[in-house]
Amino acid sequence: MRKKIVAGNWKMNMDYAEGISLFSEIVNMVRDEQKGDQVAVICAPYIHLNSLAKLGGNTVKIGAQNCHQNESGAYTGEISAKMVKSVGAEYVIVGHSERRQYYAESDALLLEKTNIVLKNNLIPIFCIGETLDERNNGSYFDIIKSQLTNGLFSLSEDDFSKVIVAYEPVWAIGTGLTASSAQAQEVHAFIRQQIQAQYGEAVAQNTSILYGGSCNPKNAEELFSQQDIDGGLIGGASLKSRDFTDLVKTFNS
Ligand code: PEP
Repeated sequence: MRKKIVAGNWKMNMDYAEGISLFSEIVNMVRDEQKGDQVAVICAPYIHLNSLAKLGGNTVKIGAQNCHQNESGAYTGEISAKMVKSVGAEYVIVGHSERRQYYAESDALLLEKTNIVLKNNLIPIFCIGETLDERNNGSYFDIIKSQLTNGLFSLSEDDFSKVIVAYEPVWAIGTGLTASSAQAQEVHAFIRQQIQAQYGEAVAQNTSILYGGSCNPKNAEELFSQQDIDGGLIGGASLKSRDFTDLVKTFNS
């Protein structure tokens, strides 16, 4: 059975004190209200990871939002996967559309990052998704296929089996525009088919595929009830303890 996962992405928000306060609220609320075996993750700025990993225990897991593709060295200002692992984080977001767009991260670079994340026994949350133009001109299946092929499909079966995929249509991120449950399900089913063609049915059925893009407690129930949607990658709503907890709880209903 594949895991149901709600992962928050705080992006570049929350100073140290604000982050501790918000995360403490999230842990208390999730601990009281989580009933199933769904996994809750917060991907926080690097400065928070060490403290949050201690506070989260088994209730809320911790992830980074990025890491460098190399093991170590003269890369001023960068953080390695080994460093992320050493403070107790378990996940790393790879290839968020903001990094693809603002830092020109290519599929080839993202494959390197995914490899180093896996090598350090961290779980990559690998983001893919089309822009509004690509949706409107009908090329979105080709875009998704090439992001999967170039970013992930040269991994061994064993490595790929550890990856979480997040489908995040760029036009829905932070815009208030959500993909309809039918639009999201259509792409999630396509992603699962591509994984099946590459790695076989068992791997495809065990891969968690998250939806991201203006997901909130109001629209999550319908999205998360789709056959191929196994949870969400949540930006804005992860900055509110009530909303994030309600998203985790959505799997109980
Ligand atoms: C994200 O940043 O991954 C995201 C989905 O953001 P939002 O939920 O705010 O659209």
